[in-house]
Amino acid sequence: MSDTVITMMDGSTWKPSSSEDVIQCANCDNIVDTEEEAKSYASSGKCPNCGNSWTERRSTTISITAPSRISGGTM
Ligand SMILES: [Zn+2]
Repeated sequence: MSDTVITMMDGSTWKPSSSEDVIQCANCDNIVDTEEEAKSYASSGKCPNCGNSWTERRSTTISITAPSRISGGTM
């Protein structure tokens, strides 16, 4: 997780973006939502989506969003 915080001139703090780890099937790009799910696929040995043997591919996606206010500042 990225903990980058932007501090504005008025003292408010903003979060510019968030990153998350994505686990996908290497064969069909089926995205696994949770670590637990990935583990269950790994133990069953195959991808429920494409039926091929489970090979996971991990990547980190960083979603750039409009800054969202965390706290502080005056309205
Ligand atoms: Zn698959």
